[in-house]
Amino acid sequence: MNFTIAIDGPAAAGKGTISKAVAKHFGFSHLDTGLLYRAVGAKTLSGVDATEAARSLQAEDLDAPDLRTPQVAQAASKVAVLADVRQALVDFQRAFARRAGGAVLDGRDIGTVICPEAETKLFVTASAEVRAERRYLELEANGLDISRSQVLEDVIERDKRDRERSEAPLRPAQDAVQIDTSVMSIEQAIAAALRAVDAKRKG
Ligand code: C5P
Repeated sequence: MNFTIAIDGPAAAGKGTISKAVAKHFGFSHLDTGLLYRAVGAKTLSGVDATEAARSLQAEDLDAPDLRTPQVAQAASKVAVLADVRQALVDFQRAFARRAGGAVLDGRDIGTVICPEAETKLFVTASAEVRAERRYLELEANGLDISRSQVLEDVIERDKRDRERSEAPLRPAQDAVQIDTSVMSIEQAIAAALRAVDAKRKG
């Protein structure tokens, strides 16, 4: 069975948690496509050319330490504006999307560019303040010394770059179900996502 669930949305909206829960629920494979861009961004921080890094990306690069830091997130969103970088990552993502047994991919352009034929598309959002607070708590729990205001600034800057770029800008696909998680608990957000997927599977 090929069934693809595309989950897009801005930084720290809860896509990762929702995607993992949805994949687990249906027994599908999950790909966090942001990790591909983070791995490329991390390489550029050590001096590697972005396009080279994308073209030579290996599975083990996704296990590199520190991919979750704000510095790498910013580097990821900078390499993500480059057409050659995006192009180099397309085939891998499309093959993953159509793998047997079903797949959940989360990112920015899954429903619009990578997999416009996805059976279910979700666009997960929340206010910038709520997203920044969640990301702050996550980074703090991981021992990072960073202020709330710095995290908010970071999230806003990254969203702006992701929305305004000409290549695969962040936007909901026309047929995406939008889920605003601003006032939802994580359990409520997961339940809303599962309902949306179930409705498509039954319809
Ligand atoms: O999702 P995450 O915050 O890890 O993504 C890091 C960056 O990678 C994003 O800010 C965005 O610039 C880029 N990205 C993208 N397309 C995707 C996934 C991530 O451009 N499908």
